[in-house]
Amino acid sequence: MPLFDQYGVNVTFFIDRQESLSDEDYVTLHSFENQGHEIGLHTLTHSSLVTFVEEGGSEEEWFQSQVITSLSIMEDNDFEIDSFAYPFGARTDSMDDLIQTKIPIVRGVGYSSSSIFGDEIHPWHTDCLDTGGFKALKISGQESHLENVLLTIDEEEEGTILLYAHDINGTRDTISHEDLSRLFEMANSNGWEFIQMRDLR
Ligand SMILES: [Zn+2]
Repeated sequence: MPLFDQYGVNVTFFIDRQESLSDEDYVTLHSFENQGHEIGLHTLTHSSLVTFVEEGGSEEEWFQSQVITSLSIMEDNDFEIDSFAYPFGARTDSMDDLIQTKIPIVRGVGYSSSSIFGDEIHPWHTDCLDTGGFKALKISGQESHLENVLLTIDEEEEGTILLYAHDINGTRDTISHEDLSRLFEMANSNGWEFIQMRDLR
């Protein structure tokens, strides 16, 4: 949090496993909101839609448990949810449509074999044109595209870049404070502005 404050960065936190969160956790999430960050939805159990369907489940079933149940828990805790991120970026066009009956912005991931289902989605580096689905680029862990992102921010004057990380300064699938600072510094000095997922509406 001090790092976000230092660089004036607002982010979106995508929350899953609502049933295992304590009252205190929800208070913490509300305090993130009060500091200008967004709270988005990331399903109930971090289930991959594609794997679920491959194993014989139906999209409707996944939608009910992973989106509707998860969303109502967040709403019961007084969160207004505007954005959804698919676990593993595993998405389909038909699920985008279903989710968007409830949540305006959906997010998959770029450069992932799990996001090949359907193509009605904007790439990670996109014009911020309309409501809908977007892919984000990973900047944490082993398959980090951070250098690619830094190059883009350095070379291009406008556009919208969607980035995601699972953890900050942690042990697994993480981005270090040092790398985040590099990113924030580069963005700030080249006039790129940080926005939240809900600003894409
Ligand atoms: Zn995830």
